[in-house]
This record gives sequence, C-alpha cells and structure tokens, in this order.
Amino acid sequence: MLEDIITLSKQLIKLPSISPLDLGCQKIISKRLKKIGFCIENIKINDTNNLWAYKGTGKTLTFLGHTDVVPPGNVNDWNTDPFNPVIKNNFLFGRGSADMKCALSAMIIATESFFKKFASISGRVSFLLTSDEESLGNDGTKKIIEILKSRNEKINYCLVGEPTSNLKVGDVIKNGRRGSISAEIIFYGVQGHIAYPHLANNPIHSSLNAIKDFINLKLDSGNNFFQPSSLQIFYIKSGKKNITNMIPSSIKVGLNIRYNTEITQEKIIMEINKILDKCKLHYQINWIFSGNPFLTNSGFLLKTVKKSIFEINKFIPKLSTSGGTSDGRFFTCMNSEIIELGLVNKTIHKVNECVKINDLYLLSKIYTNILKNLFI
Ligand SMILES: [Zn+2]
Repeated sequence: MLEDIITLSKQLIKLPSISPLDLGCQKIISKRLKKIGFCIENIKINDTNNLWAYKGTGKTLTFLGHTDVVPPGNVNDWNTDPFNPVIKNNFLFGRGSADMKCALSAMIIATESFFKKFASISGRVSFLLTSDEESLGNDGTKKIIEILKSRNEKINYCLVGEPTSNLKVGDVIKNGRRGSISAEIIFYGVQGHIAYPHLANNPIHSSLNAIKDFINLKLDSGNNFFQPSSLQIFYIKSGKKNITNMIPSSIKVGLNIRYNTEITQEKIIMEINKILDKCKLHYQINWIFSGNPFLTNSGFLLKTVKKSIFEINKFIPKLSTSGGTSDGRFFTCMNSEIIELGLVNKTIHKVNECVKINDLYLLSKIYTNILKNLFI
C-alpha cells in the first residue's frame, strides 16, 4: 500500500504542473479510477483541466482536490530538484508533495483498496479535481459545481484533501473557513498647488477619518467556531513621488474583509457604505467577492471523520476554521457537509516542501476508514 502511494506521488510530482497547468496528472488519475469502474468526465475550461469521476449511486461523497502547484520559487534555494521527487530521512521532497499531490495519491490508493474489499456499496464515491486552485479559481471547482447543479446532482459529503494537519496527520481538521470580500475605493478631492491649499481639497487628508473608521470597525464578536471578522487595509496609493508641489486629485484604498458566519456580505457592504457616506468626499467603490464562509458544526461526515481518525491514530482531531479560503467554499450551494483533512502543512508553498512518508500511509488508511464508516 505505502509503496503504491509513493510511486503514484512521485509520478505526479515529476509533472511540473504549475497553476493552471495539469500536464497529465489527471490523465494518470483517470486511468486508475477507470480501471476500478469509475465513470470519467474530463472537462476542460479555457486553460484549466477538471476531472469529475464517480462510481455507484445514492448518497455521495466527493473527494475534492487539485493537481496544480505553486511555482518552486528560487530553485537554487532547494536542496533537491523540486520536480524530481526524492526520499531523504523518511521524508518525500518535491513541489506539491504536501499541497497536495501526495494527498491525491492517498485518496486514490484508499479508494482502490476500499473497492477491492467492498465490490458494491449503497452510495457513490466521486472525485472532483481541478488545475486552477492555486491561481484565479475561475474555471475550476466553481464552474464544475455549476455544471453539476444544472444536472441536479446531489453531493452529501465533501472531503477536501488540503493540508490541514499541524504536527501529525489528522491532528487538525477544518470544519469551516471564513469568507473573503475585497473592495477598491477611490476618494476624489480637488487637485491644486500645494502652496494654495485653500483652493484645493486634499483627498489624502480628507479620507483619513474614513480609513480610521474602517480600521476601528467592529463587525461581530465571532462565535464558538470563528474568530471575529477582521478588516485589513492592504493598499493605499496617491500622488506622485518627487512631485512636491501638487495636491493630488484622488487616493485609492484597498481593503479585504475575512468574515465569519455571524455576518453576511450585505451587512458588511452596508457598514462600509455608512462610513463612506459620513466622509465629505466623492468616492467610487468596486467590490470583489471571493467566497462565502462555511461551517459544518455537526452531521454524519464530521462524526465519521473524527471516528475514522481516532480508530487509526488513537486521538481526536482538533477542529479549526483558520486559514484562507479553499475550494470547499463552492460546495456551500450544494448544501454539502464539508470537512478538510490532509497532510501536515508546515512546508506548503515553501522551498524544500516535503511530507513524512509514514503520514502518507496513515492518511490513506484514514481515508479508507472514512469510506468504510460512511458506506458499509
Ligand atoms: Zn492546496
């Protein structure tokens, strides 16, 4: 079993599938799934490869993942070739090993060994893989979910293989993620000579109160699962360097809000508009929506994942909703229970990305156990 996971992981890591490229990873996976009776749909949208594969009927579990990786960064900083997987001191090194090609291998091998033992089940196991999770996310999971929804497909359980673990595989699972929304605001003043400020309106000075109000804005107090929603300014730009005699005509401010299930996008927009209307400047605002928050605070999938980890590892995982968004967010419109469980995330997106060999074995065992506890 472990040898199989390592072999498949190496095959996938060898393909430098920098987002949104797939470079044949999904072909390798499709072939294996087809061999054990899965229906395969390869759905290419623009430059993104997507795979929807399923076997069985009835209550459905979807393994969700991605075959793309982030660039290696400075290759000279790596101790090994990022796209030539190497095992050293019981760790497998390579770009995408932790995020998340080895987890994909663990899912595939787990599924193969599950169906070898239980030839027919009452339920459906499926895979949704994309190659644009690390880039814009426009032509991947989001689009495939739209297609599946238009076909009236039902997905009861979504198991995301993103690296959630802290020290040992399964010690932390994610049962939710915050939502994310950004805005670019342009405040307009009146341009003029810096020596004649009474003839101008300096938008930098005039917008400062609004900016301060943004920073002090208390959106909610959080809840048992989420920290309070938080607003961060990530960008302020106005004027021109070395033009020392000019009051600029405008200032641009970028802000991002990570928000929990206590507040909605509509309420956030209302709060920001209140501040904007208080300031005496003309403004323009452009909102960018990234994703809604989700929370699975109970249900059969959460119970099953906890039980399956305990049976293998003899500890109960910690629940977390920390970190950025994940493609799991696209399943909220399917009303699926969504849980994320993957490898240790210590080295993700870094140089010398690696995973512990024994964790691959454990993760695959846990995935098989989840299938068994869900369907048998
Ligand atoms: Zn990932």
